[in-house]
Amino acid sequence: MLEGLLHLLYPDVCAGCGRLLEEEEKEVCKSCTRSFDAFSGFGASEAALFEALRRSHPECPPPGSACVLYRFHKSDRLQDILHRMKYGGVFRLGVFFGRRLGEMVADGGRTPGFDAIVPVPLHRLRRIERTYNQSEVIARAAASVLGGEVRTDLVLRRKDTLPQAGLSPVRRKRNVADAFVPSGRPAPRSVLLVDDVLTTGSTAVAVMQALETAGAGHVSLAVVALATA
Ligand SMILES: [Zn+2]
Repeated sequence: MLEGLLHLLYPDVCAGCGRLLEEEEKEVCKSCTRSFDAFSGFGASEAALFEALRRSHPECPPPGSACVLYRFHKSDRLQDILHRMKYGGVFRLGVFFGRRLGEMVADGGRTPGFDAIVPVPLHRLRRIERTYNQSEVIARAAASVLGGEVRTDLVLRRKDTLPQAGLSPVRRKRNVADAFVPSGRPAPRSVLLVDDVLTTGSTAVAVMQALETAGAGHVSLAVVALATA
């Protein structure tokens, strides 16, 4: 709490521990960054994300490729920082994580590039409340590394769903069912969907399906953190 306040007042302090940042550090200090449970590389991260989706959504085909930076544990420092990014209006944290995510996707190097990079849409009322969509900030920062156009006009969020945190897996699926619909604009062939945290994957799966309905032939997924049950 105090660290969060300090970060808002003095942006040159670490968003995790509140310590003054060294010149070469951005947003999060090296010591906090080292405390994150990071995947060793693109391949390991893709395998973990595929496995999480297969467990929670065995009926759905896996995404074309998948990438995740960190494993997220309850009450660890990363959770605090991601919470601050989402609800505390700390826009630059989205840029910090988005660039790293873009670099990891680029390291995977399996696709020639993406025709579109799509953030998970936030309902407009939530956007007003939070002032920005953190997934869009992450997507724009990832796109600055990867190239490709950020498209927020392909999928609409028509229901303001309950926050997924705290809901059972069955309720989560029901909560997002029909929440995302194609806008009617044709999606390009190869799309990268970007989000902050994947828990059961219900949101990501629902948006991927909407993108496929809109005509995308190859949808990949990139998220900052994978929550473990
Ligand atoms: Zn720190």
